[in-house]
Amino acid sequence: MEQQPSIGSSSPYYDIVIVGAGPVGLMLSTCLSRWGYKIKHIDNRAEPTPTGRADGIQPRSLDLLRNMGLKSAIMAHKPARVYEVAFWDPPQTGHGIVRTGTWASCPSFIDARYPFTTLLHQGLIERVFIADLEKNGVQIKRPWTITDFKSDNSENLEYPVEVQLKHVDGTASETVRAKYLFSGEGARSFVRQQLGIGVSHKDPIAHVWGVMDGVVKTDFPDIKMKCTIHSEHGSIMVIPREDNMVRLYIQIASSTDPDWDPCKTATEGEVQASAKRILEPYSIEWERVEWYSVYPIGQGISDKYTLDHRVFLGGDACHTHSPKAGQGMNTAFLDAQNLAWKIHAVEGGLADRALLTTYEPERKEVAENLLDFDNKYAKLFSQRPPAAAEVQAASEQSPTHAEDNEFIKTFKESCEFTSGYGVAYGPNVLNWSPSHPAQSALLNPKGTKLRTGRLMMNADVTRVVDANVVYLEQQIPLNGSFRIYVFAGKPSVTQQALKDFAFNLGDKRSFFGAYYCDNIASVSYHDNLDLNPHSLFFTICTVFAARRSSIEISRDLPDLLARYRDLVYADDRWDRHIPDAKAAAHAKMGLDEENGGVVVVRPDGYVGCVASLVEGSGTVDALNDYFSAFCTKKLGIT
Ligand SMILES: Cc1cc2nc3c(=O)[nH]c(=O)nc-3n(C[C@H](O)[C@H](O)[C@H](O)COP(=O)(O)OP(=O)(O)OC[C@H]3O[C@@H](n4cnc5c(N)ncnc54)[C@H](O)[C@@H]3O)c2cc1C
Repeated sequence: MEQQPSIGSSSPYYDIVIVGAGPVGLMLSTCLSRWGYKIKHIDNRAEPTPTGRADGIQPRSLDLLRNMGLKSAIMAHKPARVYEVAFWDPPQTGHGIVRTGTWASCPSFIDARYPFTTLLHQGLIERVFIADLEKNGVQIKRPWTITDFKSDNSENLEYPVEVQLKHVDGTASETVRAKYLFSGEGARSFVRQQLGIGVSHKDPIAHVWGVMDGVVKTDFPDIKMKCTIHSEHGSIMVIPREDNMVRLYIQIASSTDPDWDPCKTATEGEVQASAKRILEPYSIEWERVEWYSVYPIGQGISDKYTLDHRVFLGGDACHTHSPKAGQGMNTAFLDAQNLAWKIHAVEGGLADRALLTTYEPERKEVAENLLDFDNKYAKLFSQRPPAAAEVQAASEQSPTHAEDNEFIKTFKESCEFTSGYGVAYGPNVLNWSPSHPAQSALLNPKGTKLRTGRLMMNADVTRVVDANVVYLEQQIPLNGSFRIYVFAGKPSVTQQALKDFAFNLGDKRSFFGAYYCDNIASVSYHDNLDLNPHSLFFTICTVFAARRSSIEISRDLPDLLARYRDLVYADDRWDRHIPDAKAAAHAKMGLDEENGGVVVVRPDGYVGCVASLVEGSGTVDALNDYFSAFCTKKLGIT
């Protein structure tokens, strides 16, 4: 029989129990706590990561952190920023090393707001999340661990997961019930093992890495750059860090070595001696070593990310790979973000529970691509150092002039991937394709450059109310809602289409009307106006292809759209990627500058579908069909 939870914070009923306060657990917890969910979050360490471990935040992750309002707290630590990567190899003749080229870490053909990698140690990043969680009333319980769990709908339909927790010193224990359990426990996940979920190894090659963070004295000229150095004495990777530090990665052993020993280790002194030999003729001495670790790593991917869509895994619990491209933490963030909004959509009442089945295929495919990339990347650097001319060509060419040169191709694909902009989710109920149940001819209008399952493109626009130039893609924060971008074309052309769009949106059977907030009358003008005051699930903004000074919100927009006046923009900024366009944002998206179009962006920033903006009910009908594929209510039907 279903047990009714008692109300109050001491109740042992939670929306979710999160085990592990590394990047994946913290991101999940932060999102869900902001959206009002009750969370039990534990970690078996007494304190956050004190030093070392992951350190690279990729450009796309920085966008995400900005979208969450956390970027400035990260940047306050004055992290190192890597704009270029330098390659050092043995010279044609003689000994030592010479620089053979440099390339942009995020080249200009990638339309990134922050074209650099941000380097900061994992603990400082964790603390930014922890501070945000505390603001929302979540305290991570430390050092606590999980000892058992079971998930059984028949025992309690609403809170089917029972979790046993205990203090690591065994002095206290607790049993709690939850709607969900999440393992963000890292590579040795207890939950994954208990579920009997296997780990597949794509590339059987394993490595042992030495990682050293410290302050050095050196005459090596690129110590403030990211460098890959090959020498006759071995290879090393140099990564600049905050507080004048530098990280060195040295491969200590590989399963391809004739005397391979997975337990092979090296002392701090041995690694330093090896680094000194590799860097010759330059000198290097350590003033201070902050962290040193020997880090054995094999590629692995969890066979399943969930068995019952109640107990989920993410981050390193699902995928492990080499640290070379700095992807671990970034992939962990995006796993959590993907799951967070889906749990919100289901628990908030927008979406059918089946939506949760999209988490594993979407994120597992990314992990599989990551492991493939990790293999390729390792080979690219360990087998054939690129020639300077190739490096130069790769950094300068635009993708339209891409040649068949394998190295250039791999480099470009890798940059897109490593920057985080290469993620492409396949067709499903969320990412429209011709096989989607929504079959309106208005979907996917001719000319659109937006690809469903990929991030919406960046665009600069001018906010109408205050003439501020802003990043359109950042205007709606990560608030768990779908982002409805109405590209409204020319006001004189789309006036009727906008009226019809607003009229049909206002219908109780539209995707928007069906999920109106009950307390709509109590929303004050200033309350959450830039968020989603009328709906937990949809935030709407409008972009006119017109000069800002020519736009009059109350004249050009019907009431339903005009009330989000802080989210009305003029598409009047020049864009270097399409210098001849009159309305660059419309043109970038491939939408008609006169007639516009409507873009539905998922809460995590990926395009769900694109529809033409037409007079009559067609546009809203098409979107109703799209949302009907996963929403709980029948939409658009009397
Ligand atoms: C020693 C080491 C060195 C690394 N170095 C690098 C590096 O140089 N570069 C790089 O890119 N990546 C590195 N990584 C990987 C990187 O840290 C991860 O990819 C990233 O942190 C993934 O985040 P996560 O949240 O999934 O897991 P983690 O960061 O591993 O977090 C897991 C958390 O769960 C906690 N936990 C585990 N089991 C339990 C349990 N049963 N109960 C309660 N809590 C539990 C752990 O204490 C930890 O806080 C390193 C990892 C390790 C272990």
